[in-house]
Amino acid sequence: MCTGCGACAFHQPEQIRMHDVVDAGLRPVVQDTHAGRRASIEAMAVCPGHSLTHDPSRFPAGTIDSLRPGWGPILELWEGHARDQEIRWAASSGGAASALALACMERLGFAGTLHIRAREDAPERNETVLSTRRDELLAATGSRYAPASPCDRLDLVETASAPCVFIGKPCDVAAADKARAQHPALDDRLGLTIAIFCAGTPSTGGTHKLIQRLGLREGERLESVRYRGLGWPGLARVTVRGDGTSRELTASYADSWHLLQAHRQWRCYVCADHTGEFADIAVGDPWYREIAPGEPGSSLVLVRTARGKQIFDAAVAAGYLEVKRAAPEILERSQPQLLKLRGGLVGRILTSRALGAATPRYRGLPLWPFFRSELDLREKARSFYGTAKRVFTKRLLVRRPVASEGEG
Ligand SMILES: Cc1cc2nc3c(=O)[nH]c(=O)nc-3n(C[C@H](O)[C@H](O)[C@H](O)COP(=O)(O)OP(=O)(O)OC[C@H]3O[C@@H](n4cnc5c(N)ncnc54)[C@H](O)[C@@H]3O)c2cc1C
Ligand code: SF4
Ligand code: SF4
Repeated sequence: MCTGCGACAFHQPEQIRMHDVVDAGLRPVVQDTHAGRRASIEAMAVCPGHSLTHDPSRFPAGTIDSLRPGWGPILELWEGHARDQEIRWAASSGGAASALALACMERLGFAGTLHIRAREDAPERNETVLSTRRDELLAATGSRYAPASPCDRLDLVETASAPCVFIGKPCDVAAADKARAQHPALDDRLGLTIAIFCAGTPSTGGTHKLIQRLGLREGERLESVRYRGLGWPGLARVTVRGDGTSRELTASYADSWHLLQAHRQWRCYVCADHTGEFADIAVGDPWYREIAPGEPGSSLVLVRTARGKQIFDAAVAAGYLEVKRAAPEILERSQPQLLKLRGGLVGRILTSRALGAATPRYRGLPLWPFFRSELDLREKARSFYGTAKRVFTKRLLVRRPVASEGEG
């Protein structure tokens, strides 16, 4: 049930480290000792993989009734983009995540932003960094459809001189939320959490397949890998170097995602939170309308907590974001498949459990109402028998030791 968030490696750094299993994702390797086994049990307290619990008594007053069951607590919806044109252009959607982080760092006294970026030595893989300057934020813009463990360096937030922003996928933010309950110093320094919407993380093997499909030649090495951005949604762009010259290989967003999504880790198939329900602010794509060719980027922004609202308002007032209020219906129109997916989890989870495969436990993230309302009879049946097939084709009952998979 690992999502690859890295929180266990932060919680037990002496005993646990993250390791990229090429055909699965980033996974924890635990020291094979008594101390290692103890650490692994203790790390369950911060792990979002096995269970997520939403406590409505923690929701702020005024969350939108019609959205709460399917999308979690939302105070306000906005559509807009970064005022900084370079960030807007480079970013995944409209650069709202980076613009909010920049406002926190330049105007609100934050020390930095913990997030991920491409590794310089291996640009098809990711690393976690604490960015403290605009150029560092800019260099990390764009969604990376590859394993990333932003929680593995929560120690950088814990020891920072002032509050920090944390940006990650919904499971990363849920892990940071669990970790702050165990680490008072982290709780004190985690000033804002921003979740990016997420349909699933493809493995590094997916990126390898994409690069091969784009036409990497023998002897060429990777200089950079981007999955989108530099326009909206932008192209997948891979720069390769061989014989002293560089060339760029590209694929459309639709073609590259079509190939990559087939390599998503299993945990994503049983994920109930694709929109960052545990975050202060969540950002995604406003796909509710056709995007004209060359249209500059735009973000859908969900303000989820009182702290999120305070910071969002301050960032807008200081001119970091240009936004207009959005109607609640826009969320479902932007992500039309998500409620169906949530309903389908009933069949996926019950079938997996019946066949002996691991499943996550969700409390306070309702599934049954969407099973009843969003799926027709055929889809309901398919969510059961489709999963039964997958339990075997995806070898979910087979234990695969991480350490034997080669260094990442
Ligand atoms: C795996 C994945 C699946 C996605 N699925 C959806 C979807 O279903 N629907 C949808 O609307 N949008 C999806 N997105 C895109 C993303 O949610 C939006 O583009 C979001 O609006 C962020 O845009 P932005 O312009 O504000 O971000 P930017 O300003 O470009 O900043 C992006 C931030 O995200 C961080 N980041 C990038 N990749 C990752 C990663 N793999 N793990 C953790 N942090 C990362 C970067 O470090 C950076 O701080 C997905 C992104 C990823 C990485
Ligand atoms: S989901 Fe996160 S905390 Fe849980 S095992 Fe995986 S990396 Fe560790
Ligand atoms: S789909 Fe869910 S579990 Fe998978 S990476 Fe995204 S947020 Fe995490």
